[in-house]
Amino acid sequence: MNGKLKLALAGCCAVLLALALAACTTQPEPAAAPTAAPATALPTEPPATATPVPPPTPAPTATAAPTIAPTATPVPPPTATPAPEPEPPAEEPPAFQMPPPTMTRLADGVYHYFGFFGSSLVVIADDAVLTTDVYNFPRAQSLKEEIAKITDTPVSIIALTHEHYDHVGGTGVFPDATIVCQQNCQQAFDLFMVAEVGDVPEVDETFDTYQEIMVGDKVVELHYMGPGDGEATTVVYMPEEQIVVTSDMYEPRALTHKNWVHDKNFVGTRYILNTISEWDLKHAINAHSLGTDPVDLYENVDYYNDLYDAVSAAVVEAATQAGGAFGAYPLYDTLPQTLELEQYQDWTNYDTSFPSHVERMLLSIYHGD
Ligand SMILES: [Zn+2]
Repeated sequence: MNGKLKLALAGCCAVLLALALAACTTQPEPAAAPTAAPATALPTEPPATATPVPPPTPAPTATAAPTIAPTATPVPPPTATPAPEPEPPAEEPPAFQMPPPTMTRLADGVYHYFGFFGSSLVVIADDAVLTTDVYNFPRAQSLKEEIAKITDTPVSIIALTHEHYDHVGGTGVFPDATIVCQQNCQQAFDLFMVAEVGDVPEVDETFDTYQEIMVGDKVVELHYMGPGDGEATTVVYMPEEQIVVTSDMYEPRALTHKNWVHDKNFVGTRYILNTISEWDLKHAINAHSLGTDPVDLYENVDYYNDLYDAVSAAVVEAATQAGGAFGAYPLYDTLPQTLELEQYQDWTNYDTSFPSHVERMLLSIYHGD
């Protein structure tokens, strides 16, 4: 109960009490009258002496009230304490609006589509169109519409960046497309139950460590360097245009949220990011941000290197003291709570997810996955 309401109720109570008191104090007068009336009535006195009779009429209470009222000044309170203001209605949260998709030209015939919080590389030639992950049905529809604004040529190749189900859906929107994925994709699609209820593509072509695709006269390279985010992590690279595409490997000045680190091989991610950061790059497309400045990649290379250095130093120290690798095992219980990398504390998700990164890097170093 808020203060105003309490005051209002207190005011109301005061009024009620005053009225009740008024009623109580005036009650005796009319009550006395009936006894007086018969007494005077019985003697057969002329009505003149029976003038006390008026009291039985309700009038006295009506006239009594005004005499009480002045002392019952609490009556004003209703006006003195303004009626309780109604609580302002809770502010409606602004309705969520999906940012409109964007198609940004990065080089001649090469675009970055960003929509539904996901990135796709789009490479357009006269007789072929390649794109990367299309994610899901509505996003794939949007991508198709945006591509149709640039070319009449249908999408002919979809290169998947890894096997995660939030990336591989929606390919049915492009019935003419050949689906290419690193060979571990198919293994995941075959093994996991979710494939039976999810939107999982029919993979047409697989590769082991490297595949080159020509889109018109443009070279698109697919590189597999071991697991990173998932088991089929593929890096897409256009050497002439100096454009690299990775998915779920890093985000600009943000830690991958703790909910999504369990299938991320941290040592592998560090290796892949270090490797591609040595390539000539004008644009680095990541899965979930509009920006393509390679500086986002370079900052994450530093982050993964610093995390690796700090965790591996602790592992080496503990193992050395114990005389064997087993000595690092207790670090699982302590290091995630004690290790800090202050220079990344202002990155998004640091507070919630850094301990999980320490744990995952420790596991990756200790177990190799
Ligand atoms: Zn992923």
